Amino acid sequence: MAPPQDSAAAVPARLRVDLSGQVALVTGASQGIGRAIAETLAANGATVALVARNAERLAGVAEAIRSAGGKAGTFPCDVSKSDSVSAVVEAVVAALGRIDILVNNAGVTRDTLLPRMSDEEWDEVLSTNLRGPFLFMRAASRPMMQQRYGRIVNVASVSGLIGNPGQANYSASKAGLVGLTRTVAKELAGRKVTVNAVAPGFIASDMTAALGPMLLDEVKKRVPAKRLGEAWEIADAVLFLVAPSSGYLTAQVVTVDGGLIG
Ligand code: NAP
Repeated sequence: MAPPQDSAAAVPARLRVDLSGQVALVTGASQGIGRAIAETLAANGATVALVARNAERLAGVAEAIRSAGGKAGTFPCDVSKSDSVSAVVEAVVAALGRIDILVNNAGVTRDTLLPRMSDEEWDEVLSTNLRGPFLFMRAASRPMMQQRYGRIVNVASVSGLIGNPGQANYSASKAGLVGLTRTVAKELAGRKVTVNAVAPGFIASDMTAALGPMLLDEVKKRVPAKRLGEAWEIADAVLFLVAPSSGYLTAQVVTVDGGLIG
């Protein structure tokens, strides 16, 4: 038998988990890693509530999920707006009956060196990447605590663990997200709600495409695996963390980076 392939071109047999009957809310689901997470959870039986600002792109993802036999609804929202987040969580519970899984994946970068970083660049990144997960966890943890079951995964970054020049705002937001994850995990563990983070390294997406081909070639040389990760590789790590059998796994940060920060 041929060994499993580990390359971008050949996707090996994917992880399978039975999520039927469960409702998952995924932020930043309109593209990239969030879309891969939403499609993966749907392919494993969850009904997925798709959140991002662009309603049209969300509708395209929902259509793709339905065409593949899955179940999805769209809930356009800016994750940094408190009222919108509360309204979305209420709407998801009203429309789909419950929330079992929350994946805080929406994120932005506004990279520049510290002396040039504007107040706006700092605030936008912190409010999307850190305030957003806080708002969604605060709202979604209520139904999860009531039903005595929940799985929360926050998408952090290796930049939040080791720092990265030009990303003071982004690294601070992701480091804050790790602290938020570990604290909320300890608060909710007694109610059978787990909270973990996934910290991706360099993953092929629009966010990394913005770095340009020359910088990406340098990145690939630095990564021990000698390639970028694929969005589905983050999605499978998330799937493992949200599995019903992962109930004793909480307050952890799972790094998926091809060995970069080892
Ligand atoms: P991406 O392709 O730029 O997608 C970002 C997603 O977030 C989009 O769906 C976007 O949709 C949504 N979003 C942004 N701001 C939002 C807001 N205020 N409210 C609601 N949704 C918002 O990014 P990606 O590469 O897939 O990254 C996804 C996550 O992984 C991010 O948290 C990122 O920090 C993290 N990450 C990525 C990498 C990587 O190498 N790609 C590495 C480490 C960590 P709308 O614009 O329609 O709102």
